[in-house]
Amino acid sequence: MKRLVLLITLLCGSVSVGVTQGKAAPTAGDDPHDDIARIVGYANTRGGALIFLETLTDTVGGRVTGSPQSHAASDLILKTLKDAGFESAHFEEYTLESGWQRGSARGQVLSPVTAPLYVGSYGWVPGTSGRIEIPVVDLGTPPGNDLPQSAESVRGTAVLVDVHSIGNAPTPVMRALMAHQLAQAGAAAMLVPSDKPDRMLYTSAYGLYPRAPLPVLSVAREDTLFLRRLLAKGPVRIQLDIQNTFTGSTNERNVIADLPGTNPGEMVLVGAHFDSWDPAQGADDNGSGVAAVLEAARILKSLGTRPRCTIRFAFFSGEEEANLGSRAYVAMHQAEIDRLRAFLLMDDGAQLPLGFATNGRDDLVAPLQKTLQPLVGLGAGKIDADADMESDNASFMVLGVPSLTLQVEPGDYDVRHHAITDTFDKIDPRKLALDTAVMAVAAYSLANAETRPGRRLSPNEVKELLKKTGLESAQELQFGSLQP
Ligand SMILES: [Zn+2]
Repeated sequence: MKRLVLLITLLCGSVSVGVTQGKAAPTAGDDPHDDIARIVGYANTRGGALIFLETLTDTVGGRVTGSPQSHAASDLILKTLKDAGFESAHFEEYTLESGWQRGSARGQVLSPVTAPLYVGSYGWVPGTSGRIEIPVVDLGTPPGNDLPQSAESVRGTAVLVDVHSIGNAPTPVMRALMAHQLAQAGAAAMLVPSDKPDRMLYTSAYGLYPRAPLPVLSVAREDTLFLRRLLAKGPVRIQLDIQNTFTGSTNERNVIADLPGTNPGEMVLVGAHFDSWDPAQGADDNGSGVAAVLEAARILKSLGTRPRCTIRFAFFSGEEEANLGSRAYVAMHQAEIDRLRAFLLMDDGAQLPLGFATNGRDDLVAPLQKTLQPLVGLGAGKIDADADMESDNASFMVLGVPSLTLQVEPGDYDVRHHAITDTFDKIDPRKLALDTAVMAVAAYSLANAETRPGRRLSPNEVKELLKKTGLESAQELQFGSLQP
């Protein structure tokens, strides 16, 4: 409670400072259209997002939650905000229940031939307690989430299984449920074929945090095909040596900064997660989102804009495990949730922006088409009710807050998502600049609108929404059963 009171005091304290600065800024426009034109111009000509992203990726690199790199990233974000004049920018700490450190992952086919086997650990999975030699069992593509054959047949084996999405439930639901059944049956490891090209591996902890029940390993697509060719002819034995460490509970933090509005009783929250995976630099997931949101904050600040309600910028950690940062945020700010007009998220990479998804809320589509009309000229005026629970948008959806996700052209994002190729050189500066413009204009327009885009849903309406969108299993995996 004490902490909450302190935060509210900080928020209120920052209001007068910010408004004074806004008035003093020589470039502040009284006409919202002028402000929007300036925002778009700044985003597309200053290159601020790209410059920040290069610093983040090349000086900090991959940022696993709880790691020194994650802390360095939050230090860099806070310093950048302070340098931009966000005097009240601050950390908000929370406890990371379970820290994890990746070690080496070695695999080899032992028989009927000896050959290398290219494997890598998923996140928050245990190691193998030394080198183990085990047979491989292939479950293929099970039709549902249940173990398709007897527990005895997988005991003491490495189990190859193609996990997939069932209905609207994302793939991690089956991955997590299957991992638990395999562990219960006594399997030694779960091998998940990677869908990346060129022997690239995949990593994730979604559904596996705080601790996977057995080693869950990504196996290169080519190596999976090789194993299956061998299995078609007879038994296959492999060797695995996986070294991972759980580091216990530690502190993590979000970074929060406010651009005060003239009516601070309402707020638009704009967010992106700064944690990432470690095989690469986390440039597109989600360095690009952090860079765009941070530059949007700097642009709005430097223009001295004074929207009707406060715009808060939130940089979350722990998204890759289970939306830990945004969940800590909503727990810490319960008293302010009713004040939220909307949460805006960027977490699909620096591709061409198309518009926003309302995460299942049909009632928000028409009001948003009106409020976000300035995005039409940027090619990003599409508003639809598409829904997923794959990022921090979920933490606000389950509270009934209008939760809007930036929609982008898919491009080649999925090829490098959570893979070794998520590096700075893949980022298209023009697309990142456009995303920055869209995030800034959307935040500004929502904050400046006369009314909210929609109301907060009741817990029962949230339940109905999750049922309608088929996302109940994804929600349960992350949040447990909803309170009625
Ligand atoms: Zn992400």
